[in-house]
Amino acid sequence: MQFYDNMNKDPKIQKTENEWKETLSSDEFCILRKKGTEPPFTGKYVHNKEKGVYICAACGNELFSSEVKFDSGTGWPSFWETLSNDKVELKTDTRHGMKRTEVVCSRCGGHLGHMFEDGPKPTGLRYCINSAGLHFKKTK
Ligand code: FE
Repeated sequence: MQFYDNMNKDPKIQKTENEWKETLSSDEFCILRKKGTEPPFTGKYVHNKEKGVYICAACGNELFSSEVKFDSGTGWPSFWETLSNDKVELKTDTRHGMKRTEVVCSRCGGHLGHMFEDGPKPTGLRYCINSAGLHFKKTK
């Protein structure tokens, strides 16, 4: 089911958890819908250096360019900015006894990872994103 916030925005996507379960792999479901975290250095995009765009694995929302991917050494794909400000929503996450900033896909609400303020210039931000929350569209 889709509904429109206003005519200038992409449609938001709302599905039941059962509907998501049918369309996502078990790893994707665990990350995107259950706010899981993949173990470091296990995701398929950690070392990906190809040119292209990283999109939400659940809804296809274009999130990050390969141009802003950097090697953070953490074991998760890391980016210093989103493709535009409206691509993700940031939420306060106090789970696991920590105060972190959760990164959520603005179109489908899927959990992508966390954002930290220890990234490289020019933004100083580090979007720490699970590979299983992403798909990669290679530039032709
Ligand atoms: Fe999404």
